[in-house]
Amino acid sequence: RLAKRNVQRILRLRTPKECVKALEIVGQLADEMGVSVYVVGGFVRDLIMDREKWRWPNMDIDLVVEGDGIVFAYYLAELLGGRVREHKEFMTAIVLFPSSRLLDKNDFQFDHEEQELRIDVATARLEYYQSPAVLPTVELSSIRMDLTRRDFTINAMAIKLNTSSFGELEDYFDGQGDIKQKTIRILHALSFVDDPTRALRAIRFEQRYDFKISMQCERLIRNAVALQLIQKLDGKRILAELEIILQEESVLECILRMQDFNLLEEIHSSLSLSHANDVDFVTEAYRVLDWYDMLYLAEKIDNLLFFLLVMSKGVSTGEFKGLLERLCLSSVQVEKYLFIRSQLIGVQPKVEAWFEKKRPMSSLHLLLKNVAMEAILYMVVRLEKEHGEELKRQLSYYIYQVRHEKIDITGNDILRLGVEQGAKVGEILQKVLLAKIDGIIAGYDEEIVYAEGLINKIII
Ligand code: ATP
Repeated sequence: RLAKRNVQRILRLRTPKECVKALEIVGQLADEMGVSVYVVGGFVRDLIMDREKWRWPNMDIDLVVEGDGIVFAYYLAELLGGRVREHKEFMTAIVLFPSSRLLDKNDFQFDHEEQELRIDVATARLEYYQSPAVLPTVELSSIRMDLTRRDFTINAMAIKLNTSSFGELEDYFDGQGDIKQKTIRILHALSFVDDPTRALRAIRFEQRYDFKISMQCERLIRNAVALQLIQKLDGKRILAELEIILQEESVLECILRMQDFNLLEEIHSSLSLSHANDVDFVTEAYRVLDWYDMLYLAEKIDNLLFFLLVMSKGVSTGEFKGLLERLCLSSVQVEKYLFIRSQLIGVQPKVEAWFEKKRPMSSLHLLLKNVAMEAILYMVVRLEKEHGEELKRQLSYYIYQVRHEKIDITGNDILRLGVEQGAKVGEILQKVLLAKIDGIIAGYDEEIVYAEGLINKIII
């Protein structure tokens, strides 16, 4: 038997010091407890691929213990000065600990604030698994069993952490070969029957890494769609995978690939991109979202809401509600999204009228100041199609220049000018802001003069 590849060198080279230190502590503890412990999944995949994702605390460390994972987690938490959240029914636990535990004074590799880091610990136990029919009848180690239940070859590698074999790579399914060949490959033909969400995961990894879903894998995804396995899938699980996809840089490519596999329509009929120009619309929408992200404004986008608004163009409110329910959104979220969509439907014609009548920017601000940014971005795409580049330009200007415009004077200035405390103060400030938006005034002094003018008119 060939010696196992040891990846200790690249592990030390490519991961931050504190992370290596954490893994060493895990290995020493494993030795003391007489169990084997491995780091598995995405960590190993990204290490082998040399992907720059090493930024605590977003980096996941997933451990598998050949023994009692929960007991292991408690000991580990003690060593790291952390705490444990356990999930008894799954025999898993999360160790949460302060980042400072792993930092020396000299370790200023990153700008750290004190943060809580996490390590996921799972249990691999032979008797826990019912052997799938696809497995050979040889007795397997529990780590091998654990890896056999995973989604793709690239995600089914493990690195041993026990001190004497620290860095040994367990790669039973040739994940390394598939990384070289840039292929997403499943471990057995029933993989999508076992768990149809893997179809979404296959697309996510394919698009993220610019890999290719293998021919067998592609055929089996199409098969799962034909068998309506996606239709029957729990909405919560779809939502969880969808939300991860919507955070990907390659989100548009993922959406188009999902369409290619007919997965969108299988999730819910209102998600289908069946009209000839639907794909163009979605493409343009994500271009606009990219543009918005580049502005680095404080107002963050709810990726799910934006996706749902864009995908449900031309869909009735009833169908839209059906989609939200299909995805098992909470009732609070359903209400919120329905409200924003109705706001969008109501305000869109008003924005068109504003444009046609060539009204000032301040009127647009009054129309849009309480409208969600996701809906405004939707309008940028939608109204450009119907009214051309100029409307898009004006809406863009509104977004980055006008929406968060502030004035220099405050309520105290208005009080000093003799107005009594009350709603009037706010009204005057609002009018000063609108005048500033329209370029009538600029700077503190002009604002004061303008406010005085307003007050005098009001008093008269
Ligand atoms: P990311 O970089 O997106 O976090 P990840 O691989 O860490 O990728 P997770 O969803 O955290 O993604 O999953 C961790 C590991 O758990 C995967 O690498 C895979 O081995 C396994 N896994 C996750 N979901 C499934 C699934 N649906 N079926 C089988 N194995 C899965």
